[in-house]
Amino acid sequence: MTTPLAMLPTTTDPHDGVKAFADYRGDLHERCEVLVVGSGPGGAVVAKELAERGHDVILLEEGPPMGRREFKQEAGEAMQRLIRDGGSRASRGNIVTPTMQAIVLGGGSVINSAICARPPAWIFDKWAERTGTSITRADLDPHFERVETFLGVAPTPAEVQGERNERFRRGCEAIGMSVEPIWRNVQGCKGSGECFTGCRNGAKKSTDVSYVPAAIRAGARVFTSIRVERVVAQGRRVKGIEGRIVEPLTNAVHGRVTFDADLVVLAAGCMATPVILQKSELCTENRWVGKDLRFHPGLAMLAMYDAPIDPWKGATQGYHSLQYLEEGLKFEVLWSPPSVLATRMPGVGHSYQKHLLRYDHLAPFDVICAADRSSGEVSAKRGTMSPDIQYHFDQEDVDLMQKGLGILSDICWASGAEAILPGLHGIPEVIERKEDAEVIRTHRLKASDTIAASNHAFCTTRMSPSARLGVVDESGRCHDLDNLYIADTGIFAASSGVNPMLLCMALADRVALGIHARL
Ligand SMILES: Cc1cc2nc3c(=O)[nH]c(=O)nc-3n(C[C@H](O)[C@H](O)[C@H](O)COP(=O)(O)OP(=O)(O)OC[C@H]3O[C@@H](n4cnc5c(N)ncnc54)[C@H](O)[C@@H]3O)c2cc1C
Ligand code: SF4
Repeated sequence: MTTPLAMLPTTTDPHDGVKAFADYRGDLHERCEVLVVGSGPGGAVVAKELAERGHDVILLEEGPPMGRREFKQEAGEAMQRLIRDGGSRASRGNIVTPTMQAIVLGGGSVINSAICARPPAWIFDKWAERTGTSITRADLDPHFERVETFLGVAPTPAEVQGERNERFRRGCEAIGMSVEPIWRNVQGCKGSGECFTGCRNGAKKSTDVSYVPAAIRAGARVFTSIRVERVVAQGRRVKGIEGRIVEPLTNAVHGRVTFDADLVVLAAGCMATPVILQKSELCTENRWVGKDLRFHPGLAMLAMYDAPIDPWKGATQGYHSLQYLEEGLKFEVLWSPPSVLATRMPGVGHSYQKHLLRYDHLAPFDVICAADRSSGEVSAKRGTMSPDIQYHFDQEDVDLMQKGLGILSDICWASGAEAILPGLHGIPEVIERKEDAEVIRTHRLKASDTIAASNHAFCTTRMSPSARLGVVDESGRCHDLDNLYIADTGIFAASSGVNPMLLCMALADRVALGIHARL
């Protein structure tokens, strides 16, 4: 039985009890039973569930705690504060794919749109085909239920949709596509559309204000500004970690830290966890560490209307369509801060200015692609903990994405657009008549014609019952080590089809309960 977050006593500061950079004097040495690395959706769930079951838990996080009063609405400043490399991280390969990872207590849940979606049952059949997993949707349903109950996940109510989201709904309905309000982990959302820069209303239940305080209430100790650099092992057993204290924002390195533990759970995210394993020279015999990186590449199209729609009003992402999910496509409304959207505007000089001035007339809609044929890899860069990310966007997936862009264009026109801005190389920058938009279907796109954002990333320490096919087994335990677990999106065996956070949390819940049963 899970007590919903809303029924728990509230504290004025949800970060009460979190150790921060200013609390440290010199080197640190601690010990615990279970050490969890990373406070995002994966790690925070494990820390809470194990602490509540009486285990002595320490949760380590490289980023600092950020209170709602410290969030900055301006995107450039927010990205510098909350996102690794100021948000400029990208993969290389046949496309340059921007990919963002947070560096803050709460990880990606602080900057994401709070979309919570359960993957359909057939996703797990695909997993079984790829790596032999036997986990089904029915196995995970109790874990989804527990996470959703705790966070109060619910459909976005009509009162906070706003015109931008409503236009998307009307566009889908007009062309006969299914469309539904998105379920989100928010309480009292005011529809400010600021999820990406941090919720200043305190409505988004990111893990720093939900699972982490619950873990602390249950006795967990939480240390931020601690960068784990190495997991220490002897034979098949890990002993703990070594790392450094890092200063928030500057990332300047200070004292050394060692944390000894009976069991370690890595949940540093699917870019960082394989790097930690590689730097630690662990699982070296396993060919899947850092391999098989999967993304959901996403492309946005801007719909321009003949009158202002004040697109900044309304939940960041309030509606989506799952109609083409089985083909590998998901359609969503999108919102980004002005300076991010400005990078998508075409033209130079006066023509660029003309588009900027019509900012209040536009709505961005996006399509994300399961990209089952595309993959990449993550490796440790020499001398740093940063990942070198390579990714190949397969032409068949580009073709699928192109199909999605055609549908997205139909949604835009049906929503009442008077023009669309496709944002694709080789296609006119502005299309003012629906008939002319056929070019989006007929001009064959190459990977390099797109700039697809890839913020859903997984599979770099993938799950399989066989050590030949994956890094962790179905309980999340590394095949090569008896007491090292992984609980981030890296353990997905293939795409989640839908947005990955809720699946990550359900799997982490399952990993935690499995560890408890074994300890
Ligand atoms: C802009 C954006 C919007 C998104 N929107 C959605 C959405 O609405 N719904 C959805 O389902 N998904 C969304 N996602 C994806 C989702 O946020 C991620 O899939 C999710 O956060 C992954 O959780 P995780 O625990 O695997 O990793 P993370 O969230 O990345 O957490 C890992 C944590 O580990 C810390 N860490 C890393 N390395 C170290 C180290 N060496 N030592 C100590 N700590 C370390 C990091 O700082 C971080 O806090 C979005 C992502 C982005 C970037
Ligand atoms: S839309 Fe605004 S109020 Fe609602 S969760 Fe996002 S940032 Fe918070």
